[in-house]
Amino acid sequence: MRIIADRGVCAGHGMCEALASEFFRVGDDGIVAPVSDTVAAEPELLELVVDSCPVQALRLA
Ligand code: SF4
Repeated sequence: MRIIADRGVCAGHGMCEALASEFFRVGDDGIVAPVSDTVAAEPELLELVVDSCPVQALRLA
């Protein structure tokens, strides 16, 4: 499973990092950077995070 973050859309709300800091970090520039593009586990958590992003900047592939 891949995490795709649209850094042009991310508004730096930090919801993703608050829910799953092992997978998402908001950088010093205030924009999300997935810790890893590819994750093998926890699809339900990742789907929750994607659904929680207020600007729909995240998706899974
Ligand atoms: S929740 Fe969405 S807007 Fe907020 S930091 Fe994460 S990707 Fe960006």
